[in-house]
Amino acid sequence: MRAIEPVPWQSLACGVEGLVIEEVAPGVKRLSEAALLPAERSFFYLVEGAGRDCLIDGGWGFCASLEGLRADPQKPLVAIATHSHFDHIGMLHLAAERWGHPAEAAIFVRPDPTATQALPYLSGRVVLIGGGAIAPASLVQQPCPLHRFVGEGSRLELSSRTLEILHTPGHSPGSLCVLDRTSSLLFSADTVHDGHIYDDIPGAGRRDLLLSHRRLAEVDFALALPGHGAILSRPQFIERIDRYRTERECP
Ligand SMILES: [Zn+2]
Ligand SMILES: [Zn+2]
Repeated sequence: MRAIEPVPWQSLACGVEGLVIEEVAPGVKRLSEAALLPAERSFFYLVEGAGRDCLIDGGWGFCASLEGLRADPQKPLVAIATHSHFDHIGMLHLAAERWGHPAEAAIFVRPDPTATQALPYLSGRVVLIGGGAIAPASLVQQPCPLHRFVGEGSRLELSSRTLEILHTPGHSPGSLCVLDRTSSLLFSADTVHDGHIYDDIPGAGRRDLLLSHRRLAEVDFALALPGHGAILSRPQFIERIDRYRTERECP
């Protein structure tokens, strides 16, 4: 059987019609890219407020414009980058203002495929619907330098709701989670999700991840909206944390 020729990254460019858009709570849309196999998709989120909107992460980056996505495109849009991996930063450049942790600032300035973990991940890997791969040499992600360095305790005021930022290192040194107390939602990115939690890649650390998990288990919320996989109730979230500890044979 002949292998399918990898396609250039640029051939995947789309508008918002290339996104899967799901309203998961009032004023909160979960977004992902339809060209990708479901298991390869990352979830990013649009949180709409009365005064401004927030984009939490930016997917792989096939979508070249967010036109048509927001109810009021005149409102300011602030992006929070939970971390600098390639599957979360692709559309961050479309926001006029970006917030993230200083530990990963250099990668947002120059999203080199090795630093973003795109390589070697994408090499020869089937990621597209229909069984295709992406040609690694074609990979180009737009720089998305941070305008504001944020960390534990930072807050983003959207008028009708406030987003609180938690610094939760472990999956990466500058990993952030975002808490919306008004809607009782925790955006947990790659720190807690129901798939494989990477803790053995450059910049990751199991010890830090365990501490971050312990800390997140104390946070009060109803639903966790992760960067991959299913939306988790709080009991499911706690069960995932427990399972991670068991998988890693930690006491
Ligand atoms: Zn990641
Ligand atoms: Zn990810």
